[in-house]
Amino acid sequence: MAQKKILKTAKEWQKELTPEQYRVLRQCGTEPAFTGKYWKTKDKGVYLCAACGNELFNSETKYDSGTGWPSFSAPLDNKKIESKIDRSDGMDRVEVKCARCGSHLGHVFDDGPKPGGKRFCINSASLYLRKKQAD
Ligand code: FE
Repeated sequence: MAQKKILKTAKEWQKELTPEQYRVLRQCGTEPAFTGKYWKTKDKGVYLCAACGNELFNSETKYDSGTGWPSFSAPLDNKKIESKIDRSDGMDRVEVKCARCGSHLGHVFDDGPKPGGKRFCINSASLYLRKKQAD
């Protein structure tokens, strides 16, 4: 089933998000490598869209890609994300967006771990980790 879309004006997003979140999520920005909140996090849980709370990635698919950005081998569900060709900055990349609110998350590359071979390279600023409660 298609997810209900969340539509907000730039002003509304600006009010709800921090300046860094707004720059990355709503203006397709990129945080500098090795600076984000989650690039080396190993905590278990589910990573949500920082803009709308959509469940995007499970910590079980997170791995250390060495790039300095949180990297995942797969999304929680293909319907939770949308990808789009991005030819900005003189590069040929595939942008990854939240399917619910359209916010920019990062990019997906084909050099990920087997068997899927995907590397979802996501900005920490686009994510919020809902940690798994200890048993
Ligand atoms: Fe979202």
